[in-house]
Amino acid sequence: MGIALKKILVITGGSRGIGAATARLGAASGYAVCVNYRHNEVAAMAVVEAITSAGGEAIAVPGDVGSEADVVRLFEKVDEKLGPVTALVNNAGILEAQMRVEKMDAARLGRVVTANVIGSFLCAREAIRRMSTRHGGKGGAIVNVSSIASKLGAPNEYVDYAAAKGAIDSFTIGLAKEVAAEGIRVNAVRPGVIYTEIHASGGEPDRVERVKSSVPMQRGGQADEVARAILWLLSDEASYSTGALLDVAGGR
Ligand code: NAP
Repeated sequence: MGIALKKILVITGGSRGIGAATARLGAASGYAVCVNYRHNEVAAMAVVEAITSAGGEAIAVPGDVGSEADVVRLFEKVDEKLGPVTALVNNAGILEAQMRVEKMDAARLGRVVTANVIGSFLCAREAIRRMSTRHGGKGGAIVNVSSIASKLGAPNEYVDYAAAKGAIDSFTIGLAKEVAAEGIRVNAVRPGVIYTEIHASGGEPDRVERVKSSVPMQRGGQADEVARAILWLLSDEASYSTGALLDVAGGR
């Protein structure tokens, strides 16, 4: 019997919401976890503390996924502290104040595309350089956190964000094909309305309560319900799935 490969999971935006739930569940599933975050060190350290006090292995690493230098440093830190990444969750994402497209300026559009799209590309690049059999790696899995907004379009709220998530869907499909023969699976989850703090950035902290009646299941989702789908896609249970977009959206 060979020695089992150490499972090393990088989660961008792992300090809060869906990322934090994925970090905790990932650690419970046997991954050594890197919790990346942008500003909220207290929240990131609380996730690390919860994992380590339960006997797991975790580190917190700050870095803006939209900064190429930060992303390079993030993966170097993981190499140094945990080992080469075997699983990546591109979870970090932002939305901005609800408004119609005719009011959006280029600065806002740049921030939304940089954090949601360019960040995911840069992190995937660093992961592939370590995972791909083409580069001497042992394979791995990537899950991109898209949104059901890519399908619904988010009119009058944030079409820019929805379009960025549409780019994540195409990125998932294309990258999955590009690295399929190199031991790497790439999939996405598309969450619906989930109880997290992201809605406050749109100016409506209780947005889930307002829109939940339009969800066929008549309720918002919990971060853990998304985390379970992410962990399944990362796992060997999903060994023949790549390029899949898994809706976790209560039927929307
Ligand atoms: P959240 O509660 O607002 O948490 C966002 C996380 O991302 C935080 O850990 C934050 O770090 C981090 N982050 C933000 N920008 C970053 C950057 N540039 N670099 C590194 N980290 C960054 O969000 P969430 O609701 O859990 O959302 C997670 C993902 O799910 C996002 O991609 C979002 O678009 C997607 N999603 C959410 C919903 C929903 O209803 N909640 C629905 C569909 C899709 P700090 O703590 O340091 O700020």
